[in-house]
Amino acid sequence: MAAPVFADLVGQQEAIAIIERAVRGARGIDEEARESGAMTHAWLFTGPPGSGRSNAARAFAAALLCSERGCGECATCREVYAGTHADVELMESEGLSIKADQIRELIVRAAWAPATGSFRVVIIEDADKLTETAANALLKAIEEPGSFTTWFLCAPSPSDVLPTIRSRCRSILLRTPSHQDVATVLIERDGVDPTMAAHVARASQGHVGRAKWLAFDEDARKFRHDLLAIPARIRTVGEALSTAAELHRAATEESVRENADRDEREMSELSTAWGHGATGKGMPSGAAKAIKELEKTQKSRTTARNRAFLDIALLDLATFYRDVLLVQAGAEAPLINEDLRATVTDVASQIPGEGALHRVEAIMGARKALAFNVAPLLALESMMLALRLPARGGE
Ligand SMILES: [Zn+2]
Repeated sequence: MAAPVFADLVGQQEAIAIIERAVRGARGIDEEARESGAMTHAWLFTGPPGSGRSNAARAFAAALLCSERGCGECATCREVYAGTHADVELMESEGLSIKADQIRELIVRAAWAPATGSFRVVIIEDADKLTETAANALLKAIEEPGSFTTWFLCAPSPSDVLPTIRSRCRSILLRTPSHQDVATVLIERDGVDPTMAAHVARASQGHVGRAKWLAFDEDARKFRHDLLAIPARIRTVGEALSTAAELHRAATEESVRENADRDEREMSELSTAWGHGATGKGMPSGAAKAIKELEKTQKSRTTARNRAFLDIALLDLATFYRDVLLVQAGAEAPLINEDLRATVTDVASQIPGEGALHRVEAIMGARKALAFNVAPLLALESMMLALRLPARGGE
């Protein structure tokens, strides 16, 4: 039975076993684990979105520091999760990249002696966002580890970090949990009704956080419903362009709304720090510079959020065409969007041959374009045009 702190890692038994053995080795509880080097000073957590990379890293840190190896309830465990523990440096990056300056600062803090126990843990949640200079700065640090510092890097896949970094880390591979695993945890942990749990587990494709969000948020379900109506709805150029504009607007509103409170709080804190009324004409040049910096950070955060929102929407949209392919192949397996089977079947009859495949490619192309900084609206427009159904009466 794994320690309670691992309970949220749905369907990750293998990863949990590796982590717990490393913790026993590191803490000298298990002689065999210690001698065989089950613990090491740099770890890379990889897995698809929602598999719980950063959760796994936090659970590992809590298990190293908590007197009960991860009870999930003591002050130590809670502080590790909140990112406030004195011996855990948690780098959550919300911008588009992690710069060398940030890494250099982190390295200085990583070298401090532990305040409470015998470990210091540094967690970098989005190691795939390291710029090349930042990655090289980090490389030096993980090449010459302090005796107590452990580095946890998280990224979607091993190929998202430089090979030089990858080769110095031990890998922990998280997998996409099964629909059944996700549904079970929603029912048992969150009290979700079994029918709803089964539906959202399938709809979210093994992404536990998203499944929970869909189960509890009616607006989220409505958005998803409207999104999946697109394939059966757009036929003309005008419809394609207006649908692209709608999706773009929804993403922008969502990301601005999500960040609004925080943006406002940060700005008011800054203004207080520089003395009230230190804005507008005659304000000190230091304040003007600080405000400009903050605006830049906030803009980058909103852009990153906007992109993440669109990426999830596009992945959802792609599931529709995967279902179309399944129906066309006459497969017996349940569809991802089983509730939309009639619509899927209808679209399947209208885009025979490679129609569905081309549309999946158009969606993946748009995701790539977004990742490469193409203006979102442009990427969405070109995708929506490719998703149009043939005009009635033949292609
Ligand atoms: Zn604890």
